[in-house]
Amino acid sequence: MSVDPSRHDRRAPSTAGDGTAGSAAAAVTVLEAGRALPTRTRQVFESLSAGVVVTDRVGLVLDVNPAFCVLVRAGREALVGRVLQDVVRTADGRFPLEQVVRGLDRDGAGTAVHEALVRRLDGTSFWAQATVALARVDGRDVVVSQLVDDDERHRALADKLHRADHDELTGLRNRTALLDELGRRLAVPGPPLAVLVCDLDRFRVLNAALGHVLADEVLVAVARRLLAAVRGADVVARLGSDEFAVVVDGLNGPLPGAALEAARRLAGELSRPLRAGGREVRCGAGVGVALAERDGARSNDALGLLRDADTALRTAKAAGPGAVRWFQPAMRERVLGRLHLEDDLRRALERGQLEVHYQPVVRLADAERVGFEALVRWHHPERGLLAPEDFWPAAEESGLSVAVDALVLERVLDLLQRRPGARVSVNTSARRFDGTFAEEVLAQLRVRGVDPGRLVVELLEHSLLAGDTTTTRELARLAGAGVRIAIDDFGTGYSGLSYLHRLPVSALKLDRSFVTGLPADTDADRIAAAVAGLARGFGLVALAEGVETQAQAEHLRAQGWDFAQGFRFGRPAPEEHWYPPGT
Ligand code: C2E
Ligand code: CA
Ligand code: CA
Repeated sequence: MSVDPSRHDRRAPSTAGDGTAGSAAAAVTVLEAGRALPTRTRQVFESLSAGVVVTDRVGLVLDVNPAFCVLVRAGREALVGRVLQDVVRTADGRFPLEQVVRGLDRDGAGTAVHEALVRRLDGTSFWAQATVALARVDGRDVVVSQLVDDDERHRALADKLHRADHDELTGLRNRTALLDELGRRLAVPGPPLAVLVCDLDRFRVLNAALGHVLADEVLVAVARRLLAAVRGADVVARLGSDEFAVVVDGLNGPLPGAALEAARRLAGELSRPLRAGGREVRCGAGVGVALAERDGARSNDALGLLRDADTALRTAKAAGPGAVRWFQPAMRERVLGRLHLEDDLRRALERGQLEVHYQPVVRLADAERVGFEALVRWHHPERGLLAPEDFWPAAEESGLSVAVDALVLERVLDLLQRRPGARVSVNTSARRFDGTFAEEVLAQLRVRGVDPGRLVVELLEHSLLAGDTTTTRELARLAGAGVRIAIDDFGTGYSGLSYLHRLPVSALKLDRSFVTGLPADTDADRIAAAVAGLARGFGLVALAEGVETQAQAEHLRAQGWDFAQGFRFGRPAPEEHWYPPGT
């Protein structure tokens, strides 16, 4: 067989149009074609690495070479005598041979090259580059199609395209892809849709506590949970580290009720424990919601809608864990204010505008001062002296709280070095337990020659993650060296009490909210008495916070509280207040 396009006879072929050749006729044709092939040509044909199929002009298979059989995973007998369209189809169900042939006839070209996703008889498919040529073999018009496996290149290309708009870790769409899809949906009128943006509540803590590998597993688990929670038409995407978005399409019911309900459901889903690294992890998420009516009255702008949802999210985050907020225009200014605050705080750290105040801790028996708690203050250039409530949420959210805590700790260690009799407790956000905290603190104590027993590390009850090994290890290391560990705001957490025997805790600080109502408030009274009993039972130091009156002090003392802090005994003040110059 000679495959020579130049010899192609361009007269209309006699077989064109009557593609319904019967199988008997086909068999004859095949035999003819097989026999017609000179041995040498046959050898070349057989040894070609490209898959070659010879058909008549309507696609009846006359001959195939072994490479073609390998490519389409079918034997020669299964192929010859059949119509090519039945053997290998393109993704749209046809092999566009007739089309190609018609094109070749029209243009007078020798060959045509086509890309096609070819489906095999067994249902699998592969990308091929098909070079189709018309030829004349022994006075007969045939079509020689040469198929080269192009799968790898196509897969690499598809992979690249997929990666460009998908998040590698979770496989969800990324921000760009979400915006594209959102834009497409907003462009057509339809029922309202909502964009929900969620941000995990304790991801930074989790990341520090569990390590990156497990934290990644948490993100994958969150992605799965979200996918399971949405409906088919909804879109889930990962916007950034621990930020996800869901487009809820086709809302019905009164707005924004329906959207808020969807958001609450999502927040509820994320508040349930997730599995990562063979253990249960709780994180929860805040959700911001923005709505698009899609009635043409609103500007249908995907980016603007996502930004609104993000603004609502910032507001939700400021409201506390698990909060859901629906976007309102007034939020924009507040969120901008927050961003300015973050910038200001960053500058404040650089410019030394932060300082530490000390509030005395006294023994209730004799009101003797036994130590201090260090509390941070910000000398804001315009707003004056700020307490943590004015900037701590911004510090936490921006991650600056770690730097603030480090600064406070350094000042406290300086003080401990300068004032040999002092004992000071520092507040520590859970985020600082990153695996190196304990060693750093102990090294600094060593360098300064300060007895570790003079430092108390306070941490909030709810920052004690169940089974969080990094925190546990660091606390054990600190306590082992003599540093005291106190649980702050005791009674407000929700972590259960199991950590009391698991962790090396040495003191409980009763939250101010249980002290304020004493002695009249019977509920507060009962809780205060119970916590005092608990502390005694576990052999812990019992310290009550926010003591403002003598009546409170006496009541607490009668209940068994050993130590107290509060305005009754002294407000937080700079070091100079407690240690006048020259002392
Ligand atoms: P906290 O650790 O519970 O600190 C006690 C807070 O109660 C302090 O507020 C203190 O000024 C206030 N307080 C003390 N006695 C009384 C009283 O008798 N009555 C009333 N009404 N309040 C009293 P502050 O300084 O505004 O700090 C608020 C919170 O900010 C602290 O609560 C602590 O959780 C956090 N914080 C303060 N400084 C730091 C810090 O350096 N690092 C970290 N991570 N957190 C800090
Ligand atoms: Ca504290
Ligand atoms: Ca407290």
